[in-house]
Parts: sequence; structure tokens; C-alpha cells
Amino acid sequence: MELDGKVCVVTGGSRGIGRSICLEMAKAGAAVVVNYCSNENAAMDVASEIERFGHPSLAYKADIADFAQAQRMMEDVHKKFGRIDILVNNAGIARDMLLLIMSEKDWGDVIATNLTGIYNTTKNVARYMIKQRWGRIINISSVVGIYGNAGQANYAAAKAGIIGFTKALAKELGSRGITVNAIAPGFIKTDMTSPIIEKNAAIEEKIPLRRLGTPEDVAYMAVFLASARADYITGQIIGIDGGFTL
Ligand code: NAP
Repeated sequence: MELDGKVCVVTGGSRGIGRSICLEMAKAGAAVVVNYCSNENAAMDVASEIERFGHPSLAYKADIADFAQAQRMMEDVHKKFGRIDILVNNAGIARDMLLLIMSEKDWGDVIATNLTGIYNTTKNVARYMIKQRWGRIINISSVVGIYGNAGQANYAAAKAGIIGFTKALAKELGSRGITVNAIAPGFIKTDMTSPIIEKNAAIEEKIPLRRLGTPEDVAYMAVFLASARADYITGQIIGIDGGFTL
């Protein structure tokens, strides 16, 4: 198994893309920590499913927008498993709104979770990875962070910020054996996109591969980036969008 003996933390692992990443990381052999914010039952279900594959798992409640909670989670995980090898910064929210009616709270909540959350988790994991001289950090950005989208100024700013963060850290941590990459998904079928998909019946016609993405489409890339096969890849932003942005 490619990830045997590795310990992986996935933020927002209870649903959607994060859930799929948790399951695929476990299938590849990793012990997986399923972080969540409010949906305890869903997170426990993911952890039980992983244990059925025969790998250790733990559902862990922490609001990644809160530095102290992110720090406590990483310390507890390190105490329990003795190491942290892979961090997938997946948790995210959307509060879509045109700028003129976007409140400071809508702006602040999205930046706090989607961008500052990544600082909170990565800072608290980097020291373990530096000591191990091995680590994989995989950030979930979005095509919107590269191309923008009307009604998503807060979300696009956070996702573009993730791209800058990824490139800066790839340079900063490369000499310590740590790779840092980002995935930029297009339209993936999850709770987050269901309102948009319901309103846009013809969305598939704008995608060259003529279908929406699945959470697994993203998870397969995350597992690849975590594996030894991706040892020489760092600082990259990899699109998983069915050709949507061509
Ligand atoms: P989703 O189905 O809405 O799931 C979001 C996950 O994030 C849930 O597990 C949720 O936990 C968790 N979460 C939210 N706020 C959190 C916080 N403060 N602390 C910890 N966990 C938190 O979303 P998704 O579609 O799978 O999206 C996953 C990531 O991919 C996001 O970063 C999103 O921006 C990005 N993305 C998605 C798409 C898409 O088309 N779906 C496209 C591009 C990028 P609870 O279950 O506890 O609420």
C-alpha cells in the first residue's frame, strides 16, 4: 500500500470532497483523522467506514478558523499517532453575494475559514513535518481562485490567497523534504454546489467532458500528491475541472 504507516489529517472530512479524500487515503493505507466543525454523525460514519478497511481513524471536532482549536487538534493527533505526515486543507464554506450587498460578516467568515484556517492548521503541523524531514501539504483551492467569478469576491479572494500561500510555502519548506501543492476543482457534485447545480440545468454543456466532477475525481489526485510517485512535484496548482476552464 502506497501510504502504509502514514498519518493523514483531512480538514472538513465529514462531507463532500473531504469525505472522499479520507476514504481514498485510507484505502491507500493511511491512518486518517476526519476533522469536522458541526456534523458529528457524518464524521463518525466516515471514521467507522475507514476502520472497516482495517485502518485506524479518528473523528475530531475543531473549527479550523480558530487558531487555538487547530493547534489543540494537531497536538492531540500527534500525541495519539506519534506523527503527522499528510495534511489536506480541504474545509471550506461559501457565502455567495454581489459585493454591494456582501456584509462584513460574509466577507470575514469566508476569509477566516477558507484562508486563515489554512494558516492555522499548516502552522501547527509544519513543525512536526520539519522534524520528520518529510511531509505532504495539499490545499484545496478552486478554479474561481484563478479565474474569478461574479458573486464570489470573498470566496475567490480566499482561494487565490491559497494559491499564493501554496507557492510561498513550497519554496520555504522544500529543503525540509516537504511538498506543498494545491488542487483547483471545477464543478464537483457536493452539498456546496447543489444550489448552483439546481439553478443551472445546462451546466454540463459548458464542460468539455460533459459531466460534473465527483468527489472521487479530486480525491484520486490528493492521494497521488501524497504518494512517493509525486516526490518531485511541489508548488503546483492542479486543475480537476473536466476542461471547464479551457
Ligand atoms: P461541503 O460539501 O460543503 O463540505 C464542507 C466541509 O468543510 C464539511 O466537512 C464541513 O464540516 C467542513 N467545514 C466547514 N467549515 C469548517 C470549519 N470552520 N472547520 C472545520 N471544518 C469545516 O464542501 P465541498 O464541496 O466538499 O468542498 C470542499 C472544499 O473544496 C472546499 O474548500 C471548497 O471550497 C472546495 N471546492 C469545492 C468545489 C465544488 O464544486 N464542490 C469546487 C472548488 C473547490 P461539517 O460537516 O462539520 O459542517
